[in-house]
Amino acid sequence: MNLLYKSTRSNDKTVTASQAILKGLAEDGGLFVPETLPALNVSMEALSKMSYQEVAYEVMKLFFTDFTEEELKNCIAKAYDSKFDTEEIAPLVKADGAYYLELFHGSTIAFKDMALSILPHLLTTAAKKNNIKNEIVILTATSGDTGKAALAGFADVEGTKIIVFYPKNGVSPVQERQMVTQKGKNTYVVGIKGNFDDAQSGVKAMFNDKELAGKMDQKGFQFSSANSINIGRLVPQVVYYVYAYAKLLADGEIKDGEKINVVVPTGNFGNILAAYYAKNMGLPVNKLICASNENKVLFDFFETGKYDRNREFILTSSPSMDILISSNLERLIYKIADNDAAACKGLMDALAAKGEYTITESMKEQLADFAGGYASEDNTKEAIKSLYDKTGYVLDTHTAVASYVCRKYKEDTKDETKTLVASTASPYKFARSVMTAIDPSYDAMSDFELVDKLCEISKTAVPNAIEEIRTASVLHDTVCDKTEMKAAVEKILAI
Ligand SMILES: *Cc1c(COP(=O)(O)O)cnc(C)c1O
Repeated sequence: MNLLYKSTRSNDKTVTASQAILKGLAEDGGLFVPETLPALNVSMEALSKMSYQEVAYEVMKLFFTDFTEEELKNCIAKAYDSKFDTEEIAPLVKADGAYYLELFHGSTIAFKDMALSILPHLLTTAAKKNNIKNEIVILTATSGDTGKAALAGFADVEGTKIIVFYPKNGVSPVQERQMVTQKGKNTYVVGIKGNFDDAQSGVKAMFNDKELAGKMDQKGFQFSSANSINIGRLVPQVVYYVYAYAKLLADGEIKDGEKINVVVPTGNFGNILAAYYAKNMGLPVNKLICASNENKVLFDFFETGKYDRNREFILTSSPSMDILISSNLERLIYKIADNDAAACKGLMDALAAKGEYTITESMKEQLADFAGGYASEDNTKEAIKSLYDKTGYVLDTHTAVASYVCRKYKEDTKDETKTLVASTASPYKFARSVMTAIDPSYDAMSDFELVDKLCEISKTAVPNAIEEIRTASVLHDTVCDKTEMKAAVEKILAI
């Protein structure tokens, strides 16, 4: 069966999976969604005996139906290889009664690697299938982790260039250093004077700029997106929820068919949306618990049905979740509006014009699958320290938000369902915040002293991604105003 995709904002046009991956964003500004969500057609019993790569194939083939078996298996093999420091790719760790799904064993030690290690291969395969001659220019806005993961994924991939915009003062020192030391002749990194939402809005505007597209086409370029709105990022994220469930079953932690809760530290709503898609494909999931930091726009949305971005933007110790416009939420809105593109467009237009919208009662009823929670900065620190004191296991700040929300949810609801927590970054990536949560006196140490101390107290090896930047030199130093992003792109492409 051939699965087609359409925009969340209009129903008249369909595209194939490979076209949706190439375009990133639909022409009307909407996001591509599959016409129907496929059902898992392999038993959990069978999946529980498979490797990560095999599970990935079983899930992805249901979505990317215009890729041949060989093409898809090729992409999977190139993505999930020795770039990951464990053969399991996404191992599970049980700590204090919860199951932490470690999604940070790839080249940049954060969960974006799960999808960004395969996207370049999906994209170049899709370009070949569609006879694209233009060079593909990946344009990305990042709140820290996407940028480096995309740079690492695309560096020196033939037929592509990658330009990453990040908020100059809105990412961690390690995140910034990881990006500005990126090697690769086709990589460009630009800091902007503004926050992540400014960077994301600027990128969106360029994607919608017909004049710019024309100019680029003349010079043999076309844009594509590596942001989490690309369906080629979303689908690879469905894989690890299926894999985790199968692993819990294989390990005898759950019975076949037993429902589990899933807690996801959320920013752009991509990771948790993947879990929601997995549930809709038949994965036995009870509640999807959306964990926010102090930028709790999603918590408020799940409480009230009103999405309201008109609020102060707060810089927290979990910067990859410092987001006021969660782009992927649009796909959920579309689904709970019973695939009514006009209704979805109306709400998104209201968001663009007024910064807010309110969903209808019947849409709200369809949010019963979700629960929301949030953690303050103090809650986050406490979650790191208490789990460490109790078990010796060290969480990063983003995962700590989820860990706190998980505990709070259990206390409040008495729901004893077994719970999977998406662990989205290695603690080494946010060593200062993590270590000072455990003991404030560590703040006197330098960044790399902290890394060594973390190694000592957690009894885990220092990841390669950290070792590399100890000595790497800065290769990118461009900074521009948030209003100058288009000019920066034109300069880079010499158009
Ligand atoms: C991107 C990111 C998140 C948020 O994921 P979304 O898919 O944007 O909701 C959480 N934690 C870390 C470490 C991230 O990099």
